[in-house]
Amino acid sequence: MNLDDLHVDLDRLHGRLVALGKIGALPGGGVSRLALSDADRAGRDQVTAWMRDLGLAVTVDRIGNVLGIRSGEVDGPPVMMGSHIDTVKAGGIYDGNLGVLAGLEVIAVLNDLGLATKRSLAVGLFTNEEGSRFAPDMMGSAVHQGFLDLEEALAVRGIDGAEVGKELERIGYAGSEPTGSVRPHCYFELHIEQGPVLEQEGILIGAVEGVQGISWTEYLIKGVSNHAGTTPMRMRCDAGYLAAAIAVEARSIAREMGGDQVATTGLIEFKPNLVNVIPGQALITVDLRNTDEALLQAAERRLTSFVEQTADAEGLDVSARVLARFEPVSFDPSMVDLVERVARDRGFTVRRLPSGAGHDAQMFAPNCPTAMIFVPSAGGISHNPAEYTAPEQIRAGADVLLRVVLEKAMK
Ligand SMILES: [Zn+2]
Repeated sequence: MNLDDLHVDLDRLHGRLVALGKIGALPGGGVSRLALSDADRAGRDQVTAWMRDLGLAVTVDRIGNVLGIRSGEVDGPPVMMGSHIDTVKAGGIYDGNLGVLAGLEVIAVLNDLGLATKRSLAVGLFTNEEGSRFAPDMMGSAVHQGFLDLEEALAVRGIDGAEVGKELERIGYAGSEPTGSVRPHCYFELHIEQGPVLEQEGILIGAVEGVQGISWTEYLIKGVSNHAGTTPMRMRCDAGYLAAAIAVEARSIAREMGGDQVATTGLIEFKPNLVNVIPGQALITVDLRNTDEALLQAAERRLTSFVEQTADAEGLDVSARVLARFEPVSFDPSMVDLVERVARDRGFTVRRLPSGAGHDAQMFAPNCPTAMIFVPSAGGISHNPAEYTAPEQIRAGADVLLRVVLEKAMK
């Protein structure tokens, strides 16, 4: 049999996406399945039922990750596919879900043909990727790959005060399997891009080279609140001025550095926040991202020295607090090559690109050869009920997943 002739069944895959999207569906479209909520439980129940229907051996580990395994002809670590089915509070039906359900579709295609693979195959559903209810995000995959302590994760309290461990028990997904007992031979994740690049360039498949590094800093600036009319400019300690200057400088740094560097000021608060009062205090956050750790550090240094010098010159007191810091992750070059080659062989347009968002795949990348396949997001929109990827794009992404998995599982 020529493996290039194998294709996914779009109706079956799309049918599952739509069916899973009905669990926790929002009235106007989209879905709300926060991690370990009742809706998450119902979604998990549905996916595990599909896994069992496909003949997979299903295990649940202590952080609630679900793995469905199809045995291969030889013992050894499986070729793993996976993603997540939890969503943000008001999300779409594609983010995460596509990667899990496309994994099931790969299994279904092989089952239909009675085709055995040399290596075992696994489809994973990882707990709390979004981090909307419980921080940190990518919790299940981080515990699975040894980057987060299990007991620490189980003790995390959510925005509603609920505890991860207790919620896992409540929804029936506090499994007994030790986390990380199944070490993948390699890991593939199909995901929507969640950005505008593929759509804008009219390209069907993204061969993801890695995940951007993230640096979040919060600056608390203290000055002196005073009258806007009577205080001469030379006598001001204006906390608002420094906050505004930081926002401008962060943007200039990103524009001057070019490449993949981005900078965002997403939060700014003045006190007392009144039209005729010099702000005595300001709170501001800066989000810096780059695919290159050295460049990300350079951006951080430039911003830090600007903040220190300007604060000195203005007589302001600034304290900086790191809210998040992740180094960039590079995927295995041979795996990225494979995705690119397969997409081309299938006749699809393809380009390499970095991921601007975090994904479960980045937890696997340090431990096993890992790659991601992106398909376009209409308007670059995600984490939003309006999230949309066309059926033909889903078919293309799943066909690439099927082919790259076979490539790794047959030899
Ligand atoms: Zn996702």
